[in-house]
Amino acid sequence: MNKVLNWVSNLVFPNRCAFCSGFIKWDALVCEECRQKLETASFCPLCGKSPCECSAGGISYDGCAVARPYAGTVRNGILELKYRCGFNAAEYLAPEVFNILAENGFLSEASLITAVPMTRSRRRETGYNQAEYIAKELSKLSGLSCDFKLLGKRSSPRAQHELSADERRAEAFKAYFPLEKHSDITGKTVILCDDIITTGSTLSACAEALKSIGAAKVYCAVLAGTIKNGGI
Ligand SMILES: [Zn+2]
Ligand SMILES: [Zn+2]
Repeated sequence: MNKVLNWVSNLVFPNRCAFCSGFIKWDALVCEECRQKLETASFCPLCGKSPCECSAGGISYDGCAVARPYAGTVRNGILELKYRCGFNAAEYLAPEVFNILAENGFLSEASLITAVPMTRSRRRETGYNQAEYIAKELSKLSGLSCDFKLLGKRSSPRAQHELSADERRAEAFKAYFPLEKHSDITGKTVILCDDIITTGSTLSACAEALKSIGAAKVYCAVLAGTIKNGGI
């Protein structure tokens, strides 16, 4: 039934490639050309960086699964997902993140999935939170349930580009907080979803907020990571 609905809706809203937004078959997620040129890189399963930055410390999560480098074709897909409802990118990359979570033993420990929250005004603007979309895809694949009422985000009075790296980190820690009426997650292991990891400050800030309300461990699940010079 779902397939029929998809086919009909494709007549009205033609299906587009997750990465180049070219028209594709109604039941596909990407075009063949993009599938073949998707960038690859290896990320450290603990800090989620490429190359590994574990020795720098300052990480509050316990592991991080990252599917692809944030560059070229993949970057286009993430921007489509973030700003233009390009949900095919999340659908295509979520199974890759799922496999990395499973390979590292993160999934077998986890009991719920959550997402990096947006401020309420940003949510009103976009109408959706792409991180929640990723969480829902991982929920379908893993059978774990989602809880999006754990964390909130307050807006920062200062624009990001005015801040140094250290100030950004401090701002991230002030921005994310546990919601008042959250469910009991004492002793539970949580999967935390987001679209991109850059410095890891956002994920660390959210992991710390989750641990402040009792989470035992937090594993991050991210579609793409920025590559530092020298990374592959
Ligand atoms: Zn394409
Ligand atoms: Zn590392």
